[in-house]
Amino acid sequence: MSLLLLTNVRHDGRVRDVLIENDRIARIGPRLKVRGARRLDGRGMVVLPSLFNAHTHAAMTLLRGYADDMFLHEWLETKIWPLEARLTEDDVYVGARLACLEMIRGGVTFFNDMYWHWRGTARAAEEMGVRALVGPVVIDLGNPTRAQEVRREILNLLENRGGFTSRIRFAFGPHAIYTVSGETLRWLAETARNNGVKVHIHLSETDREVQDCVNAHQGLRPVEYLESLGVLGPELIVAHAVHLNGREIEILARHGVAVAHMPESNMKLSVGGILPYAALRQAKVPVVLGTDGACSNNSLDIFHTMKAAALAAKHGSNDPTCLPATEAWAMATRQAAAVFGVDAGAVEEGRLADLILVDTQRPEFTPGFNLMSDLVYAANGYCVDTTICDGRVLMHRRRVPGEQAILSAARRTAWRLVAQDAAAAGKGGPA
Ligand SMILES: [Zn+2]
Repeated sequence: MSLLLLTNVRHDGRVRDVLIENDRIARIGPRLKVRGARRLDGRGMVVLPSLFNAHTHAAMTLLRGYADDMFLHEWLETKIWPLEARLTEDDVYVGARLACLEMIRGGVTFFNDMYWHWRGTARAAEEMGVRALVGPVVIDLGNPTRAQEVRREILNLLENRGGFTSRIRFAFGPHAIYTVSGETLRWLAETARNNGVKVHIHLSETDREVQDCVNAHQGLRPVEYLESLGVLGPELIVAHAVHLNGREIEILARHGVAVAHMPESNMKLSVGGILPYAALRQAKVPVVLGTDGACSNNSLDIFHTMKAAALAAKHGSNDPTCLPATEAWAMATRQAAAVFGVDAGAVEEGRLADLILVDTQRPEFTPGFNLMSDLVYAANGYCVDTTICDGRVLMHRRRVPGEQAILSAARRTAWRLVAQDAAAAGKGGPA
């Protein structure tokens, strides 16, 4: 049995020891006497659940800063998609390792991903020691030949998803309603239900998407369109959901659909609205927080995201009491754990040991009136001293083993991809 003892950490306002046996929190109490345990001194630290990133495209770290300050559709069509077309599984692996490194350094131990070459992301998350819900991206553009290929790829995933630890699970990632046909969406939802996997789709991100949907589908708005296809259910996570009306919110609530909210990406890409948080909360639609990919954020720091979500909700509703710090924290921890079915998100005996130690001796936590306020409004990922996932220490004293090699490989791969793209198009380097 592996025993890890976190000593002298603050927990619920008191100094405690936390004993971790294998992957779970075994005991929390004052001055625990344990023999044969590895000890980590947590003096000056508070022990907290590690954070969840509810929507990202991990390997897009390779394109961080490659093309910014553009309109969403132009950005995708002229910059992102041409470069992504050249990615190999190994490139995705290298980019996803960089993402895992950044997330571990920011106290994140779970990410919900949607991307190409799923095996590269799964391998990276497995090796880096974090949890991931890996969703191969699905795009058929209404083309029957591509739709057939999609089905083959999904069936191949279902057959070959073994060989990973329980930290790595799989979902289906239909990109959006404008890139995936209704027939494929229906097939994916049915296959997901039959196999107990989640489905993860971008939805109602821009007003253009909503208008195109209304025009193409007899006046149905995106949520109504998905309901008409029969794809709504508790296994579905919709990413963005910025442009919703009251009826759509009611439909999401009725079907138990969860919403992943990416406030920074929405603001950076100027999607023309703010998630209607107050109405979603009132309807009891679970809302969880994601960074989106590193091209549209450009950081994977969930501390930043909590703050942005709180500020955007207040600004959007003209109500400073909307989305208080405690709710932002829950969205990135407890609530996300419930949505993704991970027995973590809280520092409690019996829970999975997915934990962080946050250094409260820093200026961000001084004078220290209110921990939740400091975490959400003042802190950032650099305040995390130690990150633990599944009982394993992934970072201690801000050191992650193998960091330099991960950074070098990412730099090499990213610059090679950009050079290939420039050579193919006869153009210069990054914009
Ligand atoms: Zn996204």
